[in-house]
Amino acid sequence: MDKSRYYQPSGTAPVGGIISGMVTALAVAFVLGGLYGIIDHYNPFIYINFLGALMLGAVSGGVVRWRVSQGKIRSRAIARLMGLAAGVASLYCAWGAYLTALFEWEIIVVDPIEMFHFIDGVAQVGAWEMKGARPTGMALYSIWAIEAGVVFFFAYNAALDNEIPYCEECNEWTTSKLTNVHVPLMEATTLNEDLETENYEPFLANCSQPVVDAEHLVVTVNGCENCDTHYLKVDRVKPKSDGDGVETKVVTPWLKTDGQLLVDLQVRIAQAAAAAPPSAIEKLVPDAPPAEVDPKDAFES
Ligand SMILES: [Zn+2]
Repeated sequence: MDKSRYYQPSGTAPVGGIISGMVTALAVAFVLGGLYGIIDHYNPFIYINFLGALMLGAVSGGVVRWRVSQGKIRSRAIARLMGLAAGVASLYCAWGAYLTALFEWEIIVVDPIEMFHFIDGVAQVGAWEMKGARPTGMALYSIWAIEAGVVFFFAYNAALDNEIPYCEECNEWTTSKLTNVHVPLMEATTLNEDLETENYEPFLANCSQPVVDAEHLVVTVNGCENCDTHYLKVDRVKPKSDGDGVETKVVTPWLKTDGQLLVDLQVRIAQAAAAAPPSAIEKLVPDAPPAEVDPKDAFES
């Protein structure tokens, strides 16, 4: 596999994008973290609180994911770090609000040293009871550590989106030109060799044929709005062995092409559609799969 033919994020992370992203993340941390802390204090059901921790992490990271796209950040590491930082900020605000509520709103807990002092105090006497047990000390710290882990894990992971190619020349994200077009199966190695050497005809001929097997390929094309840079991605879908849905695997990660391939593809896809109505494909793939697989996986396999 000639890696130079495939999209690789440049790793660029504009400082303005990082700052504005973190400002949004801090605002969300203040509101949602604060809300979570207050609910934690007044709500005695620990299960609901753990569900809240999961949501707090997922939303904190999700907001970062949106801001990473807006801020044109092409570094996966920076996106994840921002997600993690958003998770830490949310949990910090949650603790501040929890302790403030615990002291019946007479003091507002902001200072970190004061916060750790108060947390340790709560750990000595316990925070809640479940089935007659009142965890204190290390037992309670362990539960808090799990709660923090849940928030951080979901924030870290939610911060990263499925990869969309970026046009470095025009300084813009590419946009979707063809989404989830179903075509018959082709042998992966030959397909990639053909595509890398721009021998497109076997692939195009295949795309003009109707899909008859449940295991087949799904074609996606993204293109730059300002230049001829296009990227083609091909995934393979097949029904899961337990019959529950389909599994998707990247066959061709974002391969750099041009606008002509998109035009040629559209012609052949129209031929295939004329040969078999789209409803035939819907029967093959009951839940038409979004190809939500990290393209990097294709390099690793
Ligand atoms: Zn461009």
